Amino acid sequence: MNNEVSASAAFDGLSLGEAFTFDQLIGAVEQRRQRRLRIVELADLGDHDGLCAVWLMTPSEDLVLHAHSESALHRQQFVLHELAHMILGHDFGDDPDAPDFLLPDIPPNTRRRLLRRQDLDTVEEVIAETLADRFAAAIRGSAMHHSRYLEIFG
Ligand SMILES: [Zn+2]
Repeated sequence: MNNEVSASAAFDGLSLGEAFTFDQLIGAVEQRRQRRLRIVELADLGDHDGLCAVWLMTPSEDLVLHAHSESALHRQQFVLHELAHMILGHDFGDDPDAPDFLLPDIPPNTRRRLLRRQDLDTVEEVIAETLADRFAAAIRGSAMHHSRYLEIFG
């Protein structure tokens, strides 16, 4: 399977259609993984080697920590990339490079994924980014649909 096909199969597997909101996507991920998903902005993140987002698994929930960005679209893309990893089942286990400053209270064995966006060099990263782009397009489509609706009925 090439990367486009893998991303498309994962996208279709969610059965959300071609346009959906960010919240609908979060709901689908929670349902898929049977656990709560929390998204937290971490002000400290972002100044360290281009680190943009982290996916952490605790025994009870998934956490996506993301860097602050002035651009709402960038923030969304950081998070969508991590959601893509979740949907693709990319929990590879510990990332030995995970910096301790992130969450000193969470034991290392709950850490999972780090994203360094300049390192989109593995197949998994490329597929995750392809899927994140599909999500972004679907969310844009939903927003456009919504504003057209308001134009007509608002
Ligand atoms: Zn990644």
